[in-house]
Amino acid sequence: MREIKWIVAHCTASSPNATPEKIQNYWKEHLGWKNPGYHVLIGRNGEIHRLLPDDKISNGVGGGYNTNSLNVSYIGGIDANGKAVDNRTDAQKTSLELVITEWKKLYPNAEILGHRDFWYVYKYKGARKACPCYSAIEEYAHIN
Ligand SMILES: [Zn+2]
Repeated sequence: MREIKWIVAHCTASSPNATPEKIQNYWKEHLGWKNPGYHVLIGRNGEIHRLLPDDKISNGVGGGYNTNSLNVSYIGGIDANGKAVDNRTDAQKTSLELVITEWKKLYPNAEILGHRDFWYVYKYKGARKACPCYSAIEEYAHIN
């Protein structure tokens, strides 16, 4: 088993109505990714879609951090004008916390972060990237 150092929360930055199939097609066809962007994708009604087992590497964080990361994302994160917004449903909030809590139990040494909390994101994007559009550090402080 690879070492898990980070449990990372994301948003898909897609329409809230995008289906997991559509999102996975986009990764494959437009981005040319062999592996999914996240291990777990959470639909608007809180449905938990497992896309990849924990021991496989997903494309969530970049910057060389994926090797040691587990990535979970809710479907949403932008408004009708493409602006970053925390538009999680209550069901998504519940499922996100459920998945993150389970992972923290399995990998107690892992740190819970949002995508935007990685230093390299700040460094290379010049300004803070929005993903996941809320503070994972604050929201999961009671689990971390
Ligand atoms: Zn992200």
